[in-house]
Amino acid sequence: MRKVLIVGAGQSGLQLALGLVDGGYDVTVMSARTPEEIRGGRVMSTQCMFGPALQHERDLGLNLWEEATPDVRGLGLSVGVPGEGGGVQRALDWLGLLDEVAQSVDQRVKMAGWLELLEDRGGKVVYHGVTTADLDSLTSLYDLVVVAAGKGELVQLFDRDPERSPYREPQRVLSVAYVHGMEPRPEHPDVHAVRFNAVPGVGELFVIPGFTLSGPCEILFFEGLPGGPLDCWDDRPGPAEHLDRTLRLMREFMPWEHDRCRSVELTDARATLTGSYPPVVRKPVGRLPAGGRVLGMADVVVANDPITGQGSNNAAKCAASYLDSIEERGDRPFDEEWMAGAFESYWEHARHATFWTNAMLQPPPEHIMRIFGAASELPAVAGRFVNAFADPSDLRHWFFDPDLADRYLTSVSPA
Ligand SMILES: Cc1cc2nc3c(=O)[nH]c(=O)nc-3n(C[C@H](O)[C@H](O)[C@H](O)COP(=O)(O)OP(=O)(O)OC[C@H]3O[C@@H](n4cnc5c(N)ncnc54)[C@H](O)[C@@H]3O)c2cc1C
Repeated sequence: MRKVLIVGAGQSGLQLALGLVDGGYDVTVMSARTPEEIRGGRVMSTQCMFGPALQHERDLGLNLWEEATPDVRGLGLSVGVPGEGGGVQRALDWLGLLDEVAQSVDQRVKMAGWLELLEDRGGKVVYHGVTTADLDSLTSLYDLVVVAAGKGELVQLFDRDPERSPYREPQRVLSVAYVHGMEPRPEHPDVHAVRFNAVPGVGELFVIPGFTLSGPCEILFFEGLPGGPLDCWDDRPGPAEHLDRTLRLMREFMPWEHDRCRSVELTDARATLTGSYPPVVRKPVGRLPAGGRVLGMADVVVANDPITGQGSNNAAKCAASYLDSIEERGDRPFDEEWMAGAFESYWEHARHATFWTNAMLQPPPEHIMRIFGAASELPAVAGRFVNAFADPSDLRHWFFDPDLADRYLTSVSPA
């Protein structure tokens, strides 16, 4: 039986581990935290996942919270501009419908549950924060070692790929609060939708229906431009002040979302998060001092800004892609050449998400504002854009290039 070690118990590592256990591999996961520590810890993400990524989870029987979690059926865009009497008002506001539902299950719920499931299904779990020195001795004990440790210290083993990494600095300052009690958007009270609110020069607010430790909730997620008014979390406020500040910023910059927050409260004392990181793509093979080789996965090798909500989706797709590559390899060695090939197969998908995400961090060019404007009149345009969150590879055919965009808009506009 081939032995695989996976370091890191997040979306990618646990999904891969559970897939390998199903396939008869001898799997060990090393996790820095126990399920109880994860459940009692801080929120980690907003983790909205779209149709294809959710299908990978269903294929492995990992969709344990699907019934309890709100079905997100659409994604709405609102663009705020300075209003005539002061304040911010909406210049654009539309909702596109998703072909398949999206869902967001708090990673504290999911990763704790998947760790327990892995042990139930015959996987081994070792609770230990792994160091580079540990890895050096571990590589000789396993046929393959995969590093799925997110943005933790172990990324230092993997060199930055400058050709695939246009940024060196964080492009947004992130702030998250999970709340109960948010009211529906009055114009679509019956449709759970992710709301993408953009205010040029300020940043974005995402509102995401989700499922947390205490049931259904809404997640308020600011992406602030560095140096702008949403870049105000350096003091790492406590939970009450974090929520107050979030609401004050919403009242000032996204008042239509603030109107839904008359009686919100945090879901729990650990329901807030702040931070920032530079988007980066890394080389997939880590070389250890004693000669061992390890394969990086998901955020370790492709860490995009969360502005397009692709990271957990990519982690699920990376796990599915690596599972196929491992199974195809049969009994042959998991050598450096194979590792590089396994990553390139995954990159074939991830490059689309990366290109799109990096583009969305820039002020939108004129033709993209034309697309967003047309989407308010034409449901086909809104639908095509929002379904790119499930499969960003479609965007290259119409979104990035002004001529392709115009051709597409002409083809769907009434004569
Ligand atoms: C604010 C925010 C919002 C986001 N919103 C979305 C969204 O809406 N949709 C989306 O798709 N993505 C989103 N993402 C991105 C998404 O959360 C990540 O891309 C995804 O979780 C990456 O999965 P992973 O398996 O690579 O790593 P992680 O999920 O980060 O898992 C890594 C695991 O490794 C463990 N670990 C780290 N170091 C060690 C060590 N040395 N030894 C042992 N264990 C270790 C960590 O504790 C963790 O459990 C968001 C991210 C942020 C920060």
